[in-house]
Amino acid sequence: MSYFPQPIANLISKLTRLPGIGPKTAQRLAFFIMSGSNDEARDLAMAIVDAKKKIKYCSVCCNLTDTDPCLMCRSSDRDKEVICVLEHPRDIIAMERTREYRGLYHVLHGAISPIDGIGPEDLKIREFLNRLEEGSIKEVIVATDPDVEGEATALYLARLIKPLGIRVTRIAHGLPIGGDLEYADEVTLGKALLGRREL
Ligand code: ZN
Repeated sequence: MSYFPQPIANLISKLTRLPGIGPKTAQRLAFFIMSGSNDEARDLAMAIVDAKKKIKYCSVCCNLTDTDPCLMCRSSDRDKEVICVLEHPRDIIAMERTREYRGLYHVLHGAISPIDGIGPEDLKIREFLNRLEEGSIKEVIVATDPDVEGEATALYLARLIKPLGIRVTRIAHGLPIGGDLEYADEVTLGKALLGRREL
């Protein structure tokens, strides 16, 4: 039996499902929300609903966007001959922070992981190959996470890309093995980008 009134118990259980939020933090957030005004609670709820409603995948790069194509794909000052392939939309922010990269992106929305039942067809690889077939891409930088799944995905992509005569490189140096790209500091990630190697 719960110590909390049912509506609060429900809120806590929903908050606990968010990444990085344990039961204690969820309780603190729930009581914080309860201590605020109705307007504040409504603004928070509406911001979630609004973002969820307006944000879609870019039909070109599969990044999250509220315009299609996204600003990055439409930008005239990006290098349109290079695509950096990443696992998650949040990895783009990490890459942009390095200020070393001015090309385009493609978000796979995950990595190949047989243990979790995730195969190539579950990722945005078909969309990626369509872009390569258009013919203007000269280099693909594979910046999937430096863990088992990220490496498997990188090798899989390299096998698909090489026959097309496109240069394939992999970011490497300086990134901790088993690490998460989004947690790398910008200097480390910037070095990793500059030190990329052929796949
Ligand atoms: Zn895009």
